[in-house]
Amino acid sequence: MSKLTVDNNKCTGCRACEIACSYHHKKVFNPKIASLEVQRNEVDGTMSVMLYRQLPQEIKRLRLPCDACIGEPQPFCVKYCPTGAITVKPSKRYQANERK
Ligand code: SF4
Ligand code: SF4
Repeated sequence: MSKLTVDNNKCTGCRACEIACSYHHKKVFNPKIASLEVQRNEVDGTMSVMLYRQLPQEIKRLRLPCDACIGEPQPFCVKYCPTGAITVKPSKRYQANERK
């Protein structure tokens, strides 16, 4: 399983990652089912992204588990983040896909 990493300093809160994730899972644009959640700090306005493994259990129940975008050459949340805030340590599977 590949490992996603988020640099919250690069996150603008555009939510493209949530949209892309829901499209990967169900071919719909519905951030409420995404495996990751974009959050805004109401005190200082900064944005952050909670990956599936970081979400509280009650939120996880409402969302689809991250499958590392199985079947895709690259995780959608990484591919469609316009700022490069989400990165992935390539697994052997992704490296194999990239060589095709
Ligand atoms: S790797 Fe795929 S399934 Fe996992 S959070 Fe990113 S877009 Fe969603
Ligand atoms: S797509 Fe990137 S910049 Fe936009 S909310 Fe997600 S992590 Fe932040």
